[in-house]
Amino acid sequence: IVRLDGVPMTQDGTYQGMLFLLQEVTEIRRLERMRSEFVANVSHELKTPVAAVKGFAETLLGGGVKDEKTANSFLQIIYDENERLNRLIGDILELSKIESKRVHLEWSPVHLSSFFDSLLETMSKVAEKKSISLSAEVPEELFIEGDEDKLRQIFLNLLSNAINYTHEGGSVKVRAVNRQKKDGEETVIFTVTDTGMGIPRKDLPRIFERFYRVDKARSRSSGGTGLGLSIVKHLVELHRGAISVESDLGIGSTFILELPLLQDDVI
Ligand code: ADP
Repeated sequence: IVRLDGVPMTQDGTYQGMLFLLQEVTEIRRLERMRSEFVANVSHELKTPVAAVKGFAETLLGGGVKDEKTANSFLQIIYDENERLNRLIGDILELSKIESKRVHLEWSPVHLSSFFDSLLETMSKVAEKKSISLSAEVPEELFIEGDEDKLRQIFLNLLSNAINYTHEGGSVKVRAVNRQKKDGEETVIFTVTDTGMGIPRKDLPRIFERFYRVDKARSRSSGGTGLGLSIVKHLVELHRGAISVESDLGIGSTFILELPLLQDDVI
């Protein structure tokens, strides 16, 4: 029931601003539906690792496992599932902080070449494990304005996905180029390209949604939470940027980000 108390009625018996009010109600309902879907997803996602930890711990405690090798593999599962829980809780808290606008960006000039040197060093071990070549092509003189920690979070997420969803021996490459838009504004276009498994065309519009995964089993087994890309999208938008994706199944994917360039007078 829509209460229209206090909304002035015009002479022909309609309410002023009624259309606006109905739009508001529809939007509130949409947000409410999204919220309850999110809560349902969160509880499902949290229950899975909790149940696994409980089950394997109970078996061990019950004394049913006699050989050390099996006992150790059960302990490893308990450890891994607990790590997943940790990541899930961290991502859920991060997302809710961003969505309720409780994040605060620390803006400063970021020198892209040094930024990516340090990022690639962090990711090099993970890439080496899968014999994936990891490289960056970034002009020496480019700066953007942003929150360095949040930018790290964005690119760490994109790079770890690229490595995760690429087969052994593949390659992952980051590029940054300066672009002058028609209105004179300058931006930097970043691409993160992998030679991985790619994303089916029908899934492309949905992969930035919370908990959306192309292949649940694969995401789980590689430790994914299904929240990485929606966090990335929010953080890019907080930087007044945009993100999109192009992909060919079986050939690879490219994530494209556009962020404002730091203007000379700000340095
Ligand atoms: P996850 O924790 O599952 O990786 P994300 O939100 O980071 O969650 O990504 C959502 C989904 O998008 C992934 O489950 C995967 O199916 C797909 N995806 C993301 N990045 C890539 C990529 N580089 N190549 C192929 N698929 C990807």
